[in-house]
Amino acid sequence: MTEWRHCPQCAHALAPIVQDEDGGPKERLRCANCGFTHWNNPTPVLAAIVECADRGGLVLLARNAAWSGRMFALITGFMEAGETPEEGISREVLEETGLKADAISLVGVWDFQRMNQLIVAYHVLARGEIRLSPELAEYKLFAPADIVCWPGGTGLAVAKWLRSRGYEPRFMDLATRTALATGPALPPVPAPAPAGSPRGAEDARA
Ligand SMILES: [Zn+2]
Repeated sequence: MTEWRHCPQCAHALAPIVQDEDGGPKERLRCANCGFTHWNNPTPVLAAIVECADRGGLVLLARNAAWSGRMFALITGFMEAGETPEEGISREVLEETGLKADAISLVGVWDFQRMNQLIVAYHVLARGEIRLSPELAEYKLFAPADIVCWPGGTGLAVAKWLRSRGYEPRFMDLATRTALATGPALPPVPAPAPAGSPRGAEDARA
């Protein structure tokens, strides 16, 4: 997330300025010229645990084309103006995977402070032909029991969902996480990949 440097109202440079707020004096990036305050509120991000209704209940995780490592994650996206969260996650799943949502249910809401985001996580039962958007390099289908959870952010959502299905979640340790995040990316798997048993659960990240 890039830090703001200039006022969006008058283009004057923003600076850390202490001002009295409801909670007391608080330093924030503010504009000394027009009084604008950069509140820096967390951005809501929608996330989907996509369970493939027509692939034996396997869960689709995808690797973002912009990531260098071998991490696979939930389908995520920002809400757009004028849509409900359910419409938003349904749209994201369709746009990013080609799958149509049969049923959507809220798993929970988690903070993701490193990215200044609020994660709103859904379980999405979906079906159809998988067609990845260019944003995603590849996907893998995992049996729920094979998913290894990232120990924060969306991983907490996956862990809660796994428990609700009777699986005790396993969490990735820091060394594995670092190796996956910085290691070389595998060449993309041509889509659509065969629907069936998961390939290599060890590198799952969710
Ligand atoms: Zn200003």
